[in-house]
Amino acid sequence: MNKREQVWLGIFLVIPLITAKAFADAFAPDEKMGFLYDILFGFVGVLLGYAVYYFTKEAKTKVRGVFAGLVIIIFILSIAFSTNSNAYPQTCQVCGYKAIEKNDPVCGHCFEEISEERMKEKGYNRIAELVYARQLYVFYQDSVEQVDFYKPEVSEDGYEKDKQWKPIIDKEDLLDLRNGIKAEK
Ligand SMILES: [Zn+2]
Repeated sequence: MNKREQVWLGIFLVIPLITAKAFADAFAPDEKMGFLYDILFGFVGVLLGYAVYYFTKEAKTKVRGVFAGLVIIIFILSIAFSTNSNAYPQTCQVCGYKAIEKNDPVCGHCFEEISEERMKEKGYNRIAELVYARQLYVFYQDSVEQVDFYKPEVSEDGYEKDKQWKPIIDKEDLLDLRNGIKAEK
């Protein structure tokens, strides 16, 4: 194998390998599984990379360049994707604070947990139903008029509100709830 071929092989193997590693880290549920995911994703990455190398072997440098470009684009996209999905703390769907740490589904601010398990436990069929119910619970107060879903911007414990987050409930829902509670009394 000449120098040139080695460089091509390098491109088509190393980049998928790094990509696979980033993906593995993003998807592995915990540290222990991380190693297994590394091997599994790495194997697939190298296999795909080698396949591209092999099938473009006879192709002109230009064509190979295009394929190398594609591989690099996939690489950049997946790194961007995995750093994004890796960003902890994540935003709590219920309260909107960035208060969900890795390996702990319970929100550090409102102590709610939004998961399939919890949804079934509570007898809901959709995650949104669970979020809706828990938001009513978390945001309800006697002085409904003063509820501001986005305040304070930083909680007492130092959690930051995610400005992209949007509550499912609105003030009307809270008012209805209050009226319902009053009617019961
Ligand atoms: Zn929360």
